[in-house]
Amino acid sequence: MYATFDLDRPGDLAAALAILRTKGAVALAGGTNLIVDMRAGRERPQRVVSLDKLGVLRGIRQARGQVTIGGRTTVTDLLLSPVIAKTAPALVESARQFAGQMVRNTATVAGNIACGSPAADLVPPLFALDARLTLVSARGRRTVPIESFFIGYKKDIRRPGELISRISWKAPSSRSCALFYKLARRKGDAITVVGVAVALDVERGRCRRARVALGAVAPTVFRAREAEAILEGQTLTPELIESAAEAAAAAARPIDDIRASAAYRRHGVHALVRRLIGQAWEKLA
Ligand SMILES: Cc1cc2nc3c(=O)[nH]c(=O)nc-3n(C[C@H](O)[C@H](O)[C@H](O)COP(=O)(O)OP(=O)(O)OC[C@H]3O[C@@H](n4cnc5c(N)ncnc54)[C@H](O)[C@@H]3O)c2cc1C
Repeated sequence: MYATFDLDRPGDLAAALAILRTKGAVALAGGTNLIVDMRAGRERPQRVVSLDKLGVLRGIRQARGQVTIGGRTTVTDLLLSPVIAKTAPALVESARQFAGQMVRNTATVAGNIACGSPAADLVPPLFALDARLTLVSARGRRTVPIESFFIGYKKDIRRPGELISRISWKAPSSRSCALFYKLARRKGDAITVVGVAVALDVERGRCRRARVALGAVAPTVFRAREAEAILEGQTLTPELIESAAEAAAAAARPIDDIRASAAYRRHGVHALVRRLIGQAWEKLA
C-alpha cells in the first residue's frame, strides 16, 4: 500500500522546478526505484512530480566533440543509439547487463545516478568517461564532475529541488578503449557484486590516460586513482597491470552481505581490473 501523495505531471521544465521547490516533493522518472521504495514504505513523499511529459530531458546528441544526454534518457535509448555505441562502449555494456527488458525501457540514466547506490551499473562507465552532470533548479544551473557528485552512501551534493538535467562527456579519441564488467550471481536481473569500468587512451605506445572505476565495493562508486597513476605515462607490461590490479583491490572497501563476502569482492576487483586493463591494452597495441 502507498501512503497518500499528490501527483503532478507538469508539461514544462520551469513548472516542474517550481513544484520541486515545495517541501516533501520528489521527482519521478521511470519509477523503478522510487515506486518500489514507496510501496515498501521506505519513501513517503507528499508530492510526486512526474517528469514523463518533459521531452526536453530526454535524448542523445553529439556536437563539437561533446556527447550530451538528457537525464530522462532510458537504458533502452542508450542501447539503440549509434552515438553511444561509438563514444561510450563501456556504457553500452553496462546497459546490456542492466535488469531485464521491461525495466530497461523505463529506467533512466539520471534515476540511476540519483538513487545513489554504489551498485548502480551506469555509474562506473560514466566515471571512466569523466562525465559531467548539469544540475538545474528554480534558482539556476551548475555543472559538476560526476566524481564530486557522491559524498557518501546514498548521499550526494544535490540541493533541494535540483534535477539532473544532462550528462555530458568528451567523445574519446580513436586511440582509446573502454570496457565494463558486471560480476553478479546470475546473468540477468541481478544486483552487481563487483562492477568495473576501465578506460585507456594510448599515444605513441604509452598509456596517456587511465581510468579505473569501481562499483559495489565501497559506499559510493569511486576511481582507483593509485591504480590509474601506476599505468599513466607507461608502456604497459603484465607486471605493471598486476600492480595496478593490486592497487585497485587495496583501495576497495567492500562489505560482507547476502550476495558475497568482502574477501570475494576484493578478489573480484583484483581479477577484473587485471583482465580488463590487459584486454584494453591488447586492443590498442
Ligand atoms: C527488477 C529491477 C531490476 C533492476 N536492475 C538494475 C540493474 O541491473 N542495475 C542497476 O543499476 N539498477 C537496477 N535497478 C534499479 C533501477 O532500475 C535503476 O536505478 C534505474 O536507473 C532508476 O531510474 P528510474 O528512472 O526508474 O528512477 P526513479 O525510480 O524514477 O527515481 C529514482 C530516484 O532518482 C530521483 N530522480 C529521478 N530522476 C531524476 C533527475 N532527473 N534528477 C534528479 N533526481 C532524479 C528520484 O527522485 C528518486 O529519488 C533495478 C530495479 C528493478 C525494479
